[in-house]
Amino acid sequence: MHQEEAAVKKQQYQALEEIGRGKFATVFRSFHPSSNQFYALKLINKRLLTDATDRHCLEVEAKAMTFLSPHPNILRIIDTFQDALTSTIVLPLCQPRTLFDHIADGPLPESHAASLTKQLLEALTHCHALGLAHRDIKPENLLFDEANNLKLSDFGSAEWFGEGRTMSGLVGTPYYVAPEVIMGRDYDEKVDVWSSGVTLYAMLSGFPPFYGDSSAEIFEAVVRANLRFPTTIFRSVSAPAKDLLRKMICRDPSRRISAHQALKHPWILSADLS
Ligand code: ATP
Ligand code: MG
Repeated sequence: MHQEEAAVKKQQYQALEEIGRGKFATVFRSFHPSSNQFYALKLINKRLLTDATDRHCLEVEAKAMTFLSPHPNILRIIDTFQDALTSTIVLPLCQPRTLFDHIADGPLPESHAASLTKQLLEALTHCHALGLAHRDIKPENLLFDEANNLKLSDFGSAEWFGEGRTMSGLVGTPYYVAPEVIMGRDYDEKVDVWSSGVTLYAMLSGFPPFYGDSSAEIFEAVVRANLRFPTTIFRSVSAPAKDLLRKMICRDPSRRISAHQALKHPWILSADLS
């Protein structure tokens, strides 16, 4: 796209307050006077993208979101444009609180966790059927629209797989990343199921299943993959919920349940979506 065209588009949005920040991006609530609508503007500072992997995320994010749309549980992309310093992605404005904030308030009731997990698995089934892995599933990347629908977002780490194409590279976030990623093996889309299982564990207990004081310690705990359900917290959690957790947080990716299979698990089928 021409620089002038990008400049014109950028001027159409009035950036208001900052509403989020990640590794490379700063997100602003923005107003678009001609449509009288509020949006989220994700600005990526290109100077922070130093290597080829970082730059890859710039291209893949908008491409992946366009490719996956429309899906009720995947955040839509409205527009994208870039100038010399910044790449901008325009997104529907979601609620200020992500799943991370909800979990910070304490464990969620099982029925609520099941409904959210069902929506996440619906989004993942769609991605995986189209040959795309998200690779950074975590509560901070799960947003909610005004009707409280879960929206999977942040496709900056996504990658294509399939037709014998495996993925590699250390991508993701320590608490949530799958053991095969840490071990430096080639891996497949089951890495997203692992991270979703860890997310579900955090929803039900308020803390992640594997932890440590540094990234290195967390990685060690993840690779050990010793899944435990401390009785003080998990006494009140149902057997079917624990059964699904064991199937998602399974160390061997070939034995790990797929997103599509998980949608048919009794605990997910029991989710009250009313
Ligand atoms: P990461 O460090 O995980 O790679 P990132 O730099 O790619 O993050 P995002 O995860 O897309 O950035 O956004 C950062 C934060 O901004 C989110 O966790 C969320 O709190 C907020 N945010 C992002 N998009 C929206 C949106 N559409 N509506 C409301 N808030 C949003
Ligand atoms: Mg993020």
